[in-house]
This record gives sequence, C-alpha cells and structure tokens, in this order.
Amino acid sequence: MRPRLQEIIDLEDLQELMRFFYEAAGIPVGILDIDQTWLVKIGWQNICTDFHRVHPDSRDNCLLCEFKIQEYLGTDDYLIYLCPNSLLVAATPILLDDKPVGFFFLGQFLNEPPDVDLFRRQAISHGYDIASYLRALEDVPVISRARIEHLMRFFVRFFNLLTRIGAENQQRRIAEEETLKAKDQLEDRVEERTRELNRALIEVGDLAAQLNESLKQVEHLAVTDTLTETYNRRKFDEVVTHEHQRATDQQAPFSLIMLDIDHFKRVNDQFGHSVGDLVLQQLSRLIRGLIRHGDLLIRWGGEEFVILLPATQLDEAGPFAERIRLEVETEQFKGIGALTVSLGVAELRSDDSIDMLLKRVDNALYQAKQNGRNRVVLA
Ligand code: GH3
Ligand code: MG
Ligand code: MG
Repeated sequence: MRPRLQEIIDLEDLQELMRFFYEAAGIPVGILDIDQTWLVKIGWQNICTDFHRVHPDSRDNCLLCEFKIQEYLGTDDYLIYLCPNSLLVAATPILLDDKPVGFFFLGQFLNEPPDVDLFRRQAISHGYDIASYLRALEDVPVISRARIEHLMRFFVRFFNLLTRIGAENQQRRIAEEETLKAKDQLEDRVEERTRELNRALIEVGDLAAQLNESLKQVEHLAVTDTLTETYNRRKFDEVVTHEHQRATDQQAPFSLIMLDIDHFKRVNDQFGHSVGDLVLQQLSRLIRGLIRHGDLLIRWGGEEFVILLPATQLDEAGPFAERIRLEVETEQFKGIGALTVSLGVAELRSDDSIDMLLKRVDNALYQAKQNGRNRVVLA
C-alpha cells in the first residue's frame, strides 16, 4: 500500500522547514495531502482568510480551484495559475514513485502590482468592505514570474528527494521491525521448545524412577518367599557362593542352622492348612526378630528354614540355635498354642563344598529328629 505523506516525512520537521521558508521568502506555503487535509498552511494572507474564504461565492471559488489544480497537475512539473479571485498560485504534486502523495502550493502572490480597479470591483460584487479589502491587498507579495519559476523548480526536486529518502527510511524501519518480530517469534519458539523439553525430561525422570522402583520390587519378589516374606533358595544360592568365597579368602568360616517344625503335619490336620500358614508366618517373624543384621533367613521348603550366619563359628552358632529353640518353645502360636522345632547346626570346614556343608547340617537336623525332636544337634 502507498504510504501517506505524513508517514514518510516527520510532519513537525516539515512544518518548521516551511515556516523558515515563509519567513525568508515572504511567500505563503501550503501542503495538502491526498485526502484533502492541509498538513502545512503558513502565511495565508488576510485577503484569503478574511475575505475570499469567508464569502460563500469566493470560498467556492477557492475550493473549486484547489480541486481543479489537482486534476491539471501531472502533465507538467508544476503549474502557475490565476485563481478565480484574481490572485496567482503555484502548485506541484508531491510524488512518490511517480504517483502523488500530496500537493504543494506557493501563494497567493502577484507577479505585478495589483490592478486596484479590478479588486475594487471584486469587493463590490462580493460585498466586502472596500477600504479594508484594498488594505489586505497591499499585503499580497509581488514576486517576479522568473523567481517563482526558480522556486518551483527547487521545490519539485526538493520534494522528490524528500519522499524518496522518506520512503527508503520507512522501508528500512519496516524491515527492522519485521526482523525484530521474527527474532521475538523465534525466541518464543525456542522458549516453548525448551519448556517442552524440560517437561519431557521431568517425565522421563519420573518414568526412570518408577522403573527403578518396579525393578526393585521385581528383584525383591524374585528372591522372596511370598507366604513368609523370608528369602528363598535363589537368594541363598547367591549369598552362600559369596560367603563361601569370603570364608575361604579370609579364613573366617560361616555357619548354617537348619530348622524344621516338629509334627507340623498334625497342625494342618488338626487346625487346617490356613492356620498352618499363619503359624509359618508367625514363626518367620519370630526368627527375623532374633537374627542379627547380615544374617539371612531362608525358607528352605515347606516348614523347613535355613539361617545363614556370616563370619560365625560353631561355638557361636550352636548357642544361637539353642536360643531359637527356646524362644519357639515358649511362643504362643495363634490358633494352636505351643510348638517346637528341631535344629541342626554346621560350620564350614576348610575343605567343605557348599553341598558338603548342606549335607552335614541336614544330617544334624535328622539326628535332632531322631533323638526325640525339640533339640539342637551340632554337626
Ligand atoms: P517332623 O517332626 O518329622 O518334621 O513331622 P512333620 O509332620 O513336620 O513332617 P512332614 O515333612 O511329614 O510334614 C510337613 C508338613 O508340612 C507337610 C505339609 O502339609 C506341611 N506343609 C508344607 N508346606 C506348607 C505350607 O506352606 N503351609 C502349610 N499350612 N503346610 C505346609
Ligand atoms: Mg517337620
Ligand atoms: Mg519337614
């Protein structure tokens, strides 16, 4: 879209510039934009403002004249014409890319001293006060035709230069604004992407934490007996290999206790399988409360348990087994009352394999059963 004159030229600067011109040259100036608004209007004489533009007939002359000259302009650079109220005006379109964005006027003025009779007749025909009209006429500048032509040639080039620079400046401003806008949009997009990324990272972090938690649960389940919440044989295999190695390396044997409930079949038979389950759970809790941190309670199978005691010799493991036996013997089991267990104890010997150790502790337990139950036998 074609910019308006006041968009490409600073209006206040232009008005000041024209005021300087008027003060230097004494010729009135006017600039009309293409919407017929006066942007600059300096030095208009009383003859216009107090007479021609006041009386309806002569005012129509002025307006018609402004309108008409806009049509004539374009064929020549500028136009010097006699207005219907007998004064001279010079005008030129202000062009941008060969199309008018406004009109520049010099005037009114006269080339020669006025024909006073002619103006007197005008005063009579429009009903002006003759004396004051003729006084106002004296203020109209008389400027030679040649000087006006020089001035108009100057203004034609002056406005060409002004609109060209103005338009270039405006385009540069628009380009800068667009660049800034594009930069802002880009920054907004980068910010939005960063926020999305951070959200995604947090989600990934949450997922990782959940996964880690699930993994821990799975690992726990894989080595845990569901009924008694004690460890299972898989855990035993894992730990015993490690303990065997450590015992060999450090010459510090570990011990095993194998424990079996006496006559447990009777409990099931007498009170039912679910009561038997509760007894297994209570017994597990009881033993868990007795073992040390680092000791391992394993459900070996059925109503049979193994306790792995790291870095523990027989002289310590034996009394500990006895203590378990006693604690069980005095415990009141829910739904059934008293219960006893038999225990075998064995310490790892220097040339023992894990299987050999298990066999010896199993034999010890068997001996305890054989010897009448509710007792501890050391291998
Ligand atoms: P002993 O003194 O010789 O060990 O006699 P016992 O009756 O305890 O021996 P046995 O091995 O003949 O019986 C073990 C019983 O334990 C058999 C089985 O029904 C029961 N049992 C094994 N696992 C479970 C379980 O998970 N829950 C319940 N309620 N009973 C179980
Ligand atoms: Mg048993
Ligand atoms: Mg058994």
